[in-house]
Amino acid sequence: MDAAMNPENESSKEVYDAIIIGCGPAGMTAAIYAVRKNMSAIVLGDELGGQAAYSSEVENYLGYTHISGAELVEKFEAHVTSFGIKREYGRAASIKTGQVFRVTLEDGAIISGKSVIIASGRKPRRMGVPGEDDYAGRGVMFCATCDGPMFAGMDVAVVGGGNSGLMAAIQLQKICPKVYLIEIGPALRADEVYLEKIKKMPNIEPIVNASVERVFGEKMLKGIEIEDKATRVASELSVSGVFVEIGSTPAVDFARGVVPMNELGEIIVDCACRTDVPGIFAAGDVTTVPEKQIIVAAGEGAKAALSAYRYVIRSGG
Ligand SMILES: Cc1cc2nc3c(=O)[nH]c(=O)nc-3n(C[C@H](O)[C@H](O)[C@H](O)COP(=O)(O)OP(=O)(O)OC[C@H]3O[C@@H](n4cnc5c(N)ncnc54)[C@H](O)[C@@H]3O)c2cc1C
Repeated sequence: MDAAMNPENESSKEVYDAIIIGCGPAGMTAAIYAVRKNMSAIVLGDELGGQAAYSSEVENYLGYTHISGAELVEKFEAHVTSFGIKREYGRAASIKTGQVFRVTLEDGAIISGKSVIIASGRKPRRMGVPGEDDYAGRGVMFCATCDGPMFAGMDVAVVGGGNSGLMAAIQLQKICPKVYLIEIGPALRADEVYLEKIKKMPNIEPIVNASVERVFGEKMLKGIEIEDKATRVASELSVSGVFVEIGSTPAVDFARGVVPMNELGEIIVDCACRTDVPGIFAAGDVTTVPEKQIIVAAGEGAKAALSAYRYVIRSGG
């Protein structure tokens, strides 16, 4: 174990100029900007690329007309690696403020820093129905791009009739004989381009006005129970996988009570990525900054690192 990570050895621990929580586009860009300013920085997180890795096809990233999320993340990783940025594969569990900030990881290790940049992005919203937690990873999935291939040749359901749901269904119909597309509202809510696409895909069956009431199985998922919202009649669908695509929420559990958030749980920042707490900055999808996009998150990550740099210098370096 790195000496800096050993909780038994706190007195000998390095105090980093910046602790960056999250290794998605915002966190990785923040790391590059921090080290370019000669700051000692450490990046926390175990899912390199964050949500960007889930995108089958990234749109609107400067320099690439078409690139998959996986490819773009590979390029990010090569860039970050070329700077020798220090990474820790742990997740932040809490932040303690004080003369130096102390970030405790889920395994209990403590990392100290003069500033903190929160770039923890968003996590998929859950359905909140019986069985969901029991079958998470055993049929209940949250990323069609990452996990879809495991369900080749099997019938599946996608929950959520927005853009993400339709994109997932379009991907899955290539390898699954049947894809049920379940939407709780009276109609699918996706862009016309996706609605037109699925009309030409006979193995996608949209079911609107229906809610998932529970998921069930044995060792692995075997099916889901849905309820027709108009008639209240329940029925079961035999599926081996259910892909939950009902939006996302900010990943902020470790920062609750530390920095102010809005009613959606997003961390409130000013135009320089400063939170209300001097020394704590935030960037990307986890913040109140509108437009949740890779290019926006990367730009905000750069701003957060430069703000942290100014803060560290002004507080005596
Ligand atoms: C399916 C899908 C398709 C998309 N397609 C596009 C597209 O085509 N074009 C586009 O521009 N945008 C797209 N987006 C949006 C884009 O991916 C996000 O806006 C962008 O990834 C946000 O970057 P971020 O770094 O702020 O957060 P994230 O990408 O969410 O990264 C946050 C990182 O922090 C980590 N983390 C979370 N909690 C902790 C913790 N406690 N400790 C340590 N680490 C933690 C996470 O594991 C993750 O690695 C898409 C998103 C999805 C879900």
